[in-house]
Amino acid sequence: MFQLAILKCVSCNNNLTGTSKNQVIVCKNCNTPNEIYKGEAYTVRVTYVPSPGGEPQNQVYLPFWVITTQIDIKSEEIKGGKIMRFVKGEHDFQGTQKIWIVAGDLPDEESEKLGYQYTKTQPEFSHGKTESIQEMPVIRDHNEATQIAEYLFLKYEVKRSGTLQHIDYSIGFSDHELVYLPFDKKGNAYSPLV
Ligand SMILES: [Zn+2]
Repeated sequence: MFQLAILKCVSCNNNLTGTSKNQVIVCKNCNTPNEIYKGEAYTVRVTYVPSPGGEPQNQVYLPFWVITTQIDIKSEEIKGGKIMRFVKGEHDFQGTQKIWIVAGDLPDEESEKLGYQYTKTQPEFSHGKTESIQEMPVIRDHNEATQIAEYLFLKYEVKRSGTLQHIDYSIGFSDHELVYLPFDKKGNAYSPLV
């Protein structure tokens, strides 16, 4: 543990202490979660999803940034097609939706897979923390998560279209929250419980 010299809780102004590398620090005085972003503490909305049961000692809370994103694809050009396509509604990430980005330290490939999965099929869940489950630290702030969201959007747009030569789009982010989902952990393998 170490003291983050100038960081004060957004709610009660108490000094924040935490483990290094965790972007989210829960105030020991008032229990308010603080996001550490660019060296400052900020309010962050946090949701825990209860474990459906099983063995909490073999479960872990995986943190996700859930980013409300607006993507508008104005036009795109795909190799082979001489016509610029003007498109609507056929894209994985088009319109307003919540994009899920793994906030914990998982291998890139697994993070992408999980994030994509939850973005495509938004999980339905109830709220409530199962106290006995360990939490994986949050290693990226919400701003990094928005950058990953944009990268994933472009990546999947390229994958979908074959050879994308040109794309004209706008992207905006209107909201973010941190959601902890319970996973079964066996060795280095995580399987979702929600
Ligand atoms: Zn506090």
